[in-house]
Amino acid sequence: MIHRVTDLIPVVLLALACFVGGYVLLSRLLRGLSSQQPRLRKEPIPPAWYDIVDRRVPLAHDLTIDERERLLRLAQRFVAEKHFEGCGGVTVTEEMKVTIAAVACLLLLHLEGPCYPTLRTVLIYPHAFVPKRAAGASRTGELMRPAIPVVGQSWGLGVVIVAWDEVVRGARDATDGHNVVLHEFAHQLDGEDGVGDGVPLLATGALRTWARVLGQEYERLRDDSAAQRLSALDPYGATSKTEFFAVATESFFERPLQLEREHPELYAELKRFYGQDPARRVSPTTA
Ligand SMILES: [Zn+2]
Repeated sequence: MIHRVTDLIPVVLLALACFVGGYVLLSRLLRGLSSQQPRLRKEPIPPAWYDIVDRRVPLAHDLTIDERERLLRLAQRFVAEKHFEGCGGVTVTEEMKVTIAAVACLLLLHLEGPCYPTLRTVLIYPHAFVPKRAAGASRTGELMRPAIPVVGQSWGLGVVIVAWDEVVRGARDATDGHNVVLHEFAHQLDGEDGVGDGVPLLATGALRTWARVLGQEYERLRDDSAAQRLSALDPYGATSKTEFFAVATESFFERPLQLEREHPELYAELKRFYGQDPARRVSPTTA
């Protein structure tokens, strides 16, 4: 049978559509597979790192052996991939890198996907610093307040800035609900979808409950803050939904029992998102 060229056009278009559709499907599948298997490094973890995490990161004390090993593996990848830079006279040490990486990676312990893919650089100041950025809101929603010293910042363009003395203080007391590294890296997770709005990348179908619960809890904190009522959440979380997620993350890891008791729905949402249940790790007398 002889076909004219015009007869073949629909067949060619159909084949082309199948090819393009197949390519898109395959690339999504491959991206999904790679995002579920973070590439951890093969070389041994330096023995000194165990000691650094023991001394500097009490939050890691209650992890299982497997979780601690994974935390150090994630920290190893973090240290290898991210650029650290000292500011204000700081000479960056291995102890600084490992401490910051270990606390930051605590958030990733049971999350699938890459290691802070949008982050490139961690800047370390010796103590509270005055932001050099112009006034306005960053992509992560962090409010910039020029001329007012701050202890940490998270930029949407791949930079986190922390004050080392605050990193040490925040990590040392693992039950006060204040940890600048947890806070700033929660902002990084929040901004991974390109928008710092208090909504990180959630599992399919999780957005509706997340938006309802965190919206209600945010309003509750605003009311508590206005009435000067004490809360498991720092009043700073009442400044925006972005800050609320970062502050809630600090309380989730550092005051899990109080947060679970006083804000069970919020605790449940954070537990679902992070894939962790810190309240089951701690003794009831410590939080
Ligand atoms: Zn913040």
